[in-house]
Amino acid sequence: MLRDELNNKAKAVFLGVALGDALGATTEFMTPGEIKSKYRVHKKIRGGGWLGLKAGHVTDDTEMSLAIAHALVDAGQWDLKGIADNFIDWMRSKPIDIGSTVRKGIRTYMQQGMLEMPRNDWDAGNGAAMRMAPVALFTLGDDKLLRKCTLEQARLTHHHPLSDAACITLGRMTQAAMLGADRFQLHAMARELIAEHPNFKFNNYKGYASGYIVETLQTVFHYFFATSSFEDCLVGVVNQGGDADTTGAIAGMLAGAFYGFEQLPKAWLKKLNKEVRIEIEQVTERLVDICPWVAQDAHIQELSGNLWEYYNQGYVVAITTNGKVSRSGNNVMARGTAKQAAERFPDLPQLLGEKINSCGNHVHELPNRLVSFPVEHTPYEVPDLKLIEQSSRELRELTDARGWEKVIVPRPGCGGGGLSWGDVRPLLAPHFDERFRIIKAAS
Ligand SMILES: [Mg+2]
Repeated sequence: MLRDELNNKAKAVFLGVALGDALGATTEFMTPGEIKSKYRVHKKIRGGGWLGLKAGHVTDDTEMSLAIAHALVDAGQWDLKGIADNFIDWMRSKPIDIGSTVRKGIRTYMQQGMLEMPRNDWDAGNGAAMRMAPVALFTLGDDKLLRKCTLEQARLTHHHPLSDAACITLGRMTQAAMLGADRFQLHAMARELIAEHPNFKFNNYKGYASGYIVETLQTVFHYFFATSSFEDCLVGVVNQGGDADTTGAIAGMLAGAFYGFEQLPKAWLKKLNKEVRIEIEQVTERLVDICPWVAQDAHIQELSGNLWEYYNQGYVVAITTNGKVSRSGNNVMARGTAKQAAERFPDLPQLLGEKINSCGNHVHELPNRLVSFPVEHTPYEVPDLKLIEQSSRELRELTDARGWEKVIVPRPGCGGGGLSWGDVRPLLAPHFDERFRIIKAAS
């Protein structure tokens, strides 16, 4: 997945929280009947509600999510104490709304330095789940880290098995949606939660949308799976009333991940408080930067254009090859960059054939600043991920040994080979540093 796509999804996740919060604050604590008689359908960001909110402003759901995000970005890593300290600052700023369980958790940390509340049967509220967005973004691609960070952040204030399970499932579903899961896969993840905790069942949805985490999730799941746009999902959720800002915020996170930034209603984005929007966009980008899974291959640099233009600029060029040597002793260079190279340097198939016969199907230094980069054993097989990984390692070793300063590699196995770049990229990441460039080669 390209970095731009990832940033786009991440932005949609966090802005989704704010949009749901801002939209839902109007109908918080109302019944569906009251909403209907007052607005028919509430679908504009108009402020008001019991908090008397200005249109486009947000509440604790977004503010606490931002408090977490800033702690992580400031530390450049997971920082539970930093999060707890930011919660204190936030509480002291006299927020427009703060839940009782949240207040108790922050007070306990202030007075006793405790970073985990003891388990409490009354803590099954949605206050930990509403601030999952930054955790899902920071731990993207790493399920173990997601679990650890989720439980730590949740239990700062809420320590209850239903809250824990809901937070983890929401984090997982948000990440899966960001990475391209379809609604069937997401539904299976919701069913996994239900298999463990049947309370969360949401078929025959009864319309309850309180701050009890079970009802919150039932409302979010019902509308997420029953609708086919970000807007319809959120409108459905907030017109259910109850804890509408939080159900809205959570639905916004999930639907944002699934539909992406382009699907967020323009009119809502325009209404959203400008400072909040800018703060979210900035912190989200930095959050993705420090996500360990993303940072691990952030140095992979991609270029576009023609491979041979870079050759003319002095790059060492890797050509993707196979291990097949014909009876005449030539390597079979029938496709892609190998074919292009053979056309430029007619003795290349013979030279590479000799190397393969004597030393095997490996990265070999060839004349004219060329290097073989095996991606498949024969041209009749699909590219082999293991071989690609081996070639990346060998190319790195050869580059070290020769002291080359710039090497360009076509996306291995992704042209005619049919592999997806998302699958190949993580194999190269551990081996390629700033000397290497990847190019989406024209075939
Ligand atoms: Mg709220």
